[in-house]
Amino acid sequence: MDATDILKTIAEQVAVCTKCALNSSRKKSVPGEGPANARIMFIGEGPGFYENEQGRPFVGPSGKFLDELLKAAGLKRSEVFIGNVVKCRPPSNRDPLPEELAACRPYLEQQIAVINPQAIVTLGRFSMSHFLPNAKISVIHGRSSWVNGRLIIPMFHPAAALHQPALRDAIVSDFTNLPKILSLAFSDKKPGVEPAPAKPVLPLQPTLAPHVSEVPPAGEKPAAKQEGDENSRDNPVQLSLF
Ligand code: URA
Ligand code: SF4
Repeated sequence: MDATDILKTIAEQVAVCTKCALNSSRKKSVPGEGPANARIMFIGEGPGFYENEQGRPFVGPSGKFLDELLKAAGLKRSEVFIGNVVKCRPPSNRDPLPEELAACRPYLEQQIAVINPQAIVTLGRFSMSHFLPNAKISVIHGRSSWVNGRLIIPMFHPAAALHQPALRDAIVSDFTNLPKILSLAFSDKKPGVEPAPAKPVLPLQPTLAPHVSEVPPAGEKPAAKQEGDENSRDNPVQLSLF
């Protein structure tokens, strides 16, 4: 079974999942979507009204805003994986409960293990807490940390940022900075120094004291593009992005 088939199998499991109470109110589950070889994943909170209707992530107003933000980051929606920490809509868009987050967690862990992305952008605090349980979004938004070999970049949630001017400015600026963050993190290192594991490791155990090291603030150093190009034989997909 290749990675695409495994993602399909996870989606099929999610569609009939009854591991938490959210199954009883869902119309369509939203497993997430994107290529199995995506180098970057965007993880939101959970489906809202439109996602629950369509079974696809970020297709309502916050999805439109996310599309703009991806554009600001120079990314195409078709080249990234977009998912959520819970795959079924919490009624009235309430916050997911701890037991719902815990029940749904293995699906996201498996998706991450299969896709094996180098970077994960978290959207909102529930997604951030999955990787950085003690962090505060207001403090660390737009700053990257290494957690279990992957670069984690927490961002505000697009739905929250859409209607709050201060958060909106911050999220636009954080997404605009994303290419710089990624190239700083990856282009001045030889592949293999701080990469994602070559083989998926299950479980990912993000609650074990993460090795957190902040990338230098954006703007201090230009991307070492040529150096990256030289190394692109090993991972051309990575270097076209980073
Ligand atoms: N908000 C989320 O967190 N996820 C979606 O898929 C849509 C809106
Ligand atoms: Fe299953 Fe997750 Fe849906 Fe709960 S939210 S029913 S754990 S897929």
